[in-house]
Amino acid sequence: MRLLLVEDDDHVAAALSAVLARHGFQVTHARNGEEALQAVLPAAAEGKAPFGVVLLDLGLPDQDGYQVCGKIRKLTSTPVIMVTARSDVRSRIHGLNLGADDYVVKPYDTGELLARIHAVSRRTAPGEETAPDPGSALRLGPVTIELPTRRVSVDGADVPLTRKEFDLLALLAQRPGVVFRREQIISEVWRTSWEGTGRTLEVHVASLRSKLRMPSLIETVRGVGYRLVAPAG
Ligand code: CA
Repeated sequence: MRLLLVEDDDHVAAALSAVLARHGFQVTHARNGEEALQAVLPAAAEGKAPFGVVLLDLGLPDQDGYQVCGKIRKLTSTPVIMVTARSDVRSRIHGLNLGADDYVVKPYDTGELLARIHAVSRRTAPGEETAPDPGSALRLGPVTIELPTRRVSVDGADVPLTRKEFDLLALLAQRPGVVFRREQIISEVWRTSWEGTGRTLEVHVASLRSKLRMPSLIETVRGVGYRLVAPAG
């Protein structure tokens, strides 16, 4: 996988590049925001995704990393992982609101960073933004989930969902009948392991059951998590 490493500290970049290369990544190094944007934007403007993931240091010499993230996000859905020494919750929320897919605080464990890179890249299907496959819809009885357009319908009638409701439904629907653990869902959908998200998950499940008018579609597996029960056609 091609990875763009945006990092102004050459020592950090060299060490990290070596680790990433050992794990099979083709690393392109950008030393500032301008280089990062030049690496991403021309291809993105043509609808191409030059990188599978962007690792973005927020403390850059020429421009604010948040701005760089915003500019990248406007033109491409390439996953962005922010890397920063700022660990306060407000900074994290700001980053996630700007469209970052994950947020890693320095100093981080390399194994954890690799796990997060793999997690965000799994969420983005290869080639997703260049050629959305019109056939990539999940059908579960009366429910149709169109992944590229993020539309959900029941018996042909559109059901408007929030972003997180859609992500949650799409996650469960990928493997009907399989139990997803709460922590797993929270990490995949909310991209965090923050405490306090648990209640949010319950609220979203309840909302999905109600909006889809199918209370038994998502089954609570007590003490574990949730699974989607495929309805009869
Ligand atoms: Ca820096």
